[in-house]
Amino acid sequence: MSSALIGTVVAVQANYYRVQLDDTILPLTILLCTRRARLKKIGQQVMVGDRVIVEEPDWEGGRGAVAEVLPRQSQLERPAVANANQILLVFSVAEPELDTHQLSLFLVKAESTGISPCVCLNKSDLISTQQLVEIRDNLLDWGYEPIFVSVKEQTGLEQLSEKLAGQITIVCGPSGVGKSSIINYLIPGVKQRIGEVSGKLNRGRHTTRHVELFELPLGGLLADTPGFNQPDLTCSEEELADFFPEARKRLTEARCQFTDCLHRDEPNCAVRGDWERYPDYLEFLEEVIDRQQALQHQGDAESTLKIKSKLKGSQEYEPKLDTKKYRRISRRSQNQKLQGFSESQGWEDNEEDLD
Ligand code: GDP
Ligand code: ZN
Repeated sequence: MSSALIGTVVAVQANYYRVQLDDTILPLTILLCTRRARLKKIGQQVMVGDRVIVEEPDWEGGRGAVAEVLPRQSQLERPAVANANQILLVFSVAEPELDTHQLSLFLVKAESTGISPCVCLNKSDLISTQQLVEIRDNLLDWGYEPIFVSVKEQTGLEQLSEKLAGQITIVCGPSGVGKSSIINYLIPGVKQRIGEVSGKLNRGRHTTRHVELFELPLGGLLADTPGFNQPDLTCSEEELADFFPEARKRLTEARCQFTDCLHRDEPNCAVRGDWERYPDYLEFLEEVIDRQQALQHQGDAESTLKIKSKLKGSQEYEPKLDTKKYRRISRRSQNQKLQGFSESQGWEDNEEDLD
């Protein structure tokens, strides 16, 4: 047998995986693959971004089979992307005006995935150099160095391209900031491709759930996510401070008196202080606590229902959907880091094992 074919899954459509092969001298660089029954049996999910071993290439038909999934470096659930190593947060400095509170929320959300965020500020043509410097200094205080770009005047885009080269990057940010314009600039013609795919899958919510990776001219892959304005904070209250570089820094310099300090009004707290985003921290903390309590209530209600149905009779089947739901919740609590961005209305996993 010839040496193993290795590639990256760039799209998942129904039960097919579009795999881009590493080796460029092969007859084809993209194969449409199915998943080996063995993988199905062991419940091995195949995600966009996965590095896979492909077997039985049919070069004429452009087909193959995914035989193995290589270990993941990272895994995001929403959007379902494996091996991403960077999250590009795109905001505009004007039209719409830079909402620093919203940016702060996106940053915390990005940090909570464990994948490092990078801030790109578009439409820099609309503000003065002085305003630009102010924004930059402000973000430096937060612990981030933004890349200013203007698609309109084509500035800063080279620096951005360099930042993205060779990486798997997830692009997100609110609507209207110029994400599509940036992606179109980076990968000419990509918009039509996105259009084609959405056209084919145009069945209600499928369009928003679809994730696809696009190859950058300098190497590396880009995943576009639908614009949304309000990511949910799904982390626990204890870990929230970790998602603020300012708080992390304070915690390396000093310690709080209590190991379970939530940095509110506890005595001898190292985090509390007059740093700019401290009020954001307090606000997000309340949100996280509210959310956890809501989930707890929901969990209590669900377990009561479960007990009731058990009591009614053992021959009663538990609906399969339920099992899935439980599995999803437990996976969520097992590792919060796996949680990605989601629309407020909820966004189901891209791929389900519908065997
Ligand atoms: P998206 O919703 O984030 O994908 O944003 P779009 O790419 O659709 O852009 C939204 C609007 O901003 C469009 O009218 C663009 O022409 C405009 N726009 C994009 N980039 C720039 C820029 O660098 N400067 C200015 N002034 N307008 C821009
Ligand atoms: Zn503290």
